[in-house]
Amino acid sequence: MIEIDSLQSLYDFRQSLNGTLGFVPTMGALHAGHLSLVEKSLSMTDHTLVSIYVNPTQFNQSEDLDKYPRTLDRDLELLKVAGCHAVLLPSENMLYPEGLKSRTFEFGTLAQEMEGNGRPGHFEGMATVVTKFFDLVKPDFAFFGEKDYQQLCIVREVVKQENWPVEIVPCAISREDDGLAMSSRNLRLTNDQRDSAGKINQIILDHIAALGPKDNIEAWERECAAALNAIPHLDTEYVMVCDTKRLLRVQNLDSSPTARVFVAVRCGKVRLIDNFPV
Ligand code: AMP
Repeated sequence: MIEIDSLQSLYDFRQSLNGTLGFVPTMGALHAGHLSLVEKSLSMTDHTLVSIYVNPTQFNQSEDLDKYPRTLDRDLELLKVAGCHAVLLPSENMLYPEGLKSRTFEFGTLAQEMEGNGRPGHFEGMATVVTKFFDLVKPDFAFFGEKDYQQLCIVREVVKQENWPVEIVPCAISREDDGLAMSSRNLRLTNDQRDSAGKINQIILDHIAALGPKDNIEAWERECAAALNAIPHLDTEYVMVCDTKRLLRVQNLDSSPTARVFVAVRCGKVRLIDNFPV
């Protein structure tokens, strides 16, 4: 596996390739969810490049940025074993030679609710770094997890608006045995908190099973949040049912049959997000 940490070595790598390039952007602390994206890229493309970069412009709380887990040696070992061809380890200066600034974008309704509402500047920072990567890496395919569903929709929108010649490939959510969505942030949970976080999945699935097409969604969201909050350590930021095209809240399932449930829950100091088809 080639390790790339300069613009020159990235250009040389790109020039040397014959065939298609798949790109998997990550912030490291890799787990089986990330590796499922790598496997998908390996199966669909001739070469796979994974980036590991904790992008400061998408963090609106510096504590979260400082505490973000960093496990580089282990990450490199996992990627090597997976058969990844190259890993990009960019310096801040390589991506942000003019300082840590985000571009502006027109996300429309896609960034209105959920993470767009709760984390100001998050998606601008994410889209800034993703477009910088697309510009440097020039991938044919880029792989994004449905775990960050709103991010996936926004990346697709930016690619469409700006005519990036890259195909965005969505990848299903990988979960632990108890259903907790895999996340680098799970490493920061204490054992007790981890037990509580493991209950989120079943509570949401049970509530979805009980949701009828004409039921009042707001009342359902409140009940679901109350059930989550009844578990020690859990503090719900939102439970929201949104349509999958515009990511706006729906009145009932009758009017929006392809809706998804989106949740953000604090578990101790760790903020967990997840989403579920209805
Ligand atoms: P991150 O390192 O958290 O920025 O994630 C890098 C990529 O991996 C993003 O496209 C995420 O959506 C994806 N990802 C993270 N966790 C999971 C998971 N549990 N299942 C599937 N994809 C994931």
